[in-house]
Amino acid sequence: MKVLVLGGVAAGTKVAAKLMREDQSNEVLVLNKGKDISYAGCGLPYYVGHVIEDKEELIVNTPAQYEKLTGVKVLTETEAVKVDVQAKTVTAKAVVSGEERVYSYDKLVISVGASPVKPPIEGMNLENVFFVRTPADAISIREVVDSGNVKKAVVVGAGYIGLEIAENLLLQGVRPVVLDMAPQVLPGFDMEMAAYVEDKLGDAGIPVVTGVKVTGLEGNGKVEKVLTDKRAYKTNMVIMSAGIRPNTEFLEGIGLEMFKGTILTDEFGQTNIQDVYAAGDCAMVHHAVTGKAAWSPMGSTANMAGRLIAQNMSGKSIEYRGTLGTAVCKLPGINVGRTGLTQEQAEAEGFEPVSVLTVLDDKAHYMPGAGNFIIKMIADRSSLRLLGVQVIGAGAVDKVVDIAVTGIMLKGTLTDLADMGLAYAPPFSTAIHPFVHALNVLRNKIDGTLESMTPAEYAAGATKGYKVVDTCKAASIEGAPFVELTTVDGPIDGLELEDNILLVCNRGRKAYLLQNRMKSYGYKHTKVLEGGIAFNNVEV
Ligand SMILES: Cc1cc2nc3c(=O)[nH]c(=O)nc-3n(C[C@H](O)[C@H](O)[C@H](O)COP(=O)(O)OP(=O)(O)OC[C@H]3O[C@@H](n4cnc5c(N)ncnc54)[C@H](O)[C@@H]3O)c2cc1C
Repeated sequence: MKVLVLGGVAAGTKVAAKLMREDQSNEVLVLNKGKDISYAGCGLPYYVGHVIEDKEELIVNTPAQYEKLTGVKVLTETEAVKVDVQAKTVTAKAVVSGEERVYSYDKLVISVGASPVKPPIEGMNLENVFFVRTPADAISIREVVDSGNVKKAVVVGAGYIGLEIAENLLLQGVRPVVLDMAPQVLPGFDMEMAAYVEDKLGDAGIPVVTGVKVTGLEGNGKVEKVLTDKRAYKTNMVIMSAGIRPNTEFLEGIGLEMFKGTILTDEFGQTNIQDVYAAGDCAMVHHAVTGKAAWSPMGSTANMAGRLIAQNMSGKSIEYRGTLGTAVCKLPGINVGRTGLTQEQAEAEGFEPVSVLTVLDDKAHYMPGAGNFIIKMIADRSSLRLLGVQVIGAGAVDKVVDIAVTGIMLKGTLTDLADMGLAYAPPFSTAIHPFVHALNVLRNKIDGTLESMTPAEYAAGATKGYKVVDTCKAASIEGAPFVELTTVDGPIDGLELEDNILLVCNRGRKAYLLQNRMKSYGYKHTKVLEGGIAFNNVEV
């Protein structure tokens, strides 16, 4: 079988190598526009921050190494410019000489990835304005940072890449400011979780301004100022990470079904055109929960989809199980992770979402380095199906996320996933794993054992008509009466049985214990503030 693969980084090299492993008689040719193939795009921010020292580390395989390792042929700096699906040919242009050649195929894989969005504003060609997509980009950024002439940087875009770059600039002594048009950082997180992260970033030296649109860049040769619809920011450097767009313009008009320039694929990775497959950032997959077409421009998805379509092209029939939009990201002092549907997405998809936000120990509290996990867990109230998890914490958030991924992929309910005997020893976890603990709290909420107010409800003003009661370890909320749980042995002075009472403690647990006790003394309308003062800014 003669296979042409267009694009040779994550998805392309994965498809090509697997095709050869499936059948060594395959003839596989990769055409790649860029100079490097098989590089670690995900590692680029860490090269800028000197976490990865050598640029060679960014290149997983040179074309020569890859060819020897796999038996695939590679042509770099060769850009596909036209596809003829009737004749089964691709015309490609040598980037340096401009010379065009026609290549034929039995089967075609499109894995041309995506490119950073270049906003149509003045000043984009000024010096020290960068994107972050290729090793060459990261090398250029680091050279300028290492020159010592960069004190301030503006990062445009508060997604994972923008924030990772900001952290690595900070590591090198540069003061970053992150600007984003969206009302929150980290798309894919619910608003209150994103707001918490935004606060922590500010504390760590990465101020973020959301809801601000960059309108232009100014400077004399080098960039000096970023103009926005609110105010201007002086800077020595700009990193544009305001999203990506699939590199599919050259495919227009050939009959490929696309959505906003992204190629639609079925569960086998095949496009609507016979013998044409697509994978990676230029392709749509489907969502594992909703079944709808979904874009998952992630290295993880690119590699998985690549492997799968190579097997399907080789005669197997393996369905891609869908994406959950799973992501994990290291930020200064905290890590963040997410999977599945957010509360907002779950509502939009017609579920009846119920969520809980818990603040839990991430390992035995007496161990050095113990900290908190903030876990937001979302399930469907009627079916009890787990829909999504978001987690913030200094520790191994990826483990919490990965347990959730397993549960959601297997369509697990809260009952299915309860009481799992997850690994425990003090340096790693708590006796009831934080995931199971959060799940128990959510089950308590659903069956009415816990009556609570979410941070989102609290922020939206749901406390109107409630008396706030401070039940922290020590009095901590100015203007709120303090009640020590262990002293309560009947109705509490100043609190009537019919009062609406919001119980607030440090993290939520003590308030829950007090609620339980107060119910037994006849209090009818108490609520626990989820996350307590650890998560909410409580003012009376
Ligand atoms: C800074 C950064 C950090 C990231 N961190 C993570 C992370 O932590 N986790 C994660 O899962 N993902 C991460 N990603 C995303 C991940 O890198 C991408 O999802 C992945 O690289 C996509 O692979 P791809 O093969 O689809 O496309 P690409 O990597 O974009 O490769 C496409 C290739 O196609 C070539 N090409 C383009 N047009 C043509 C054409 N017409 N003809 C021939 N060749 C062409 C390009 O030159 C390029 O070499 C990160 C990305 C970046 C930039």
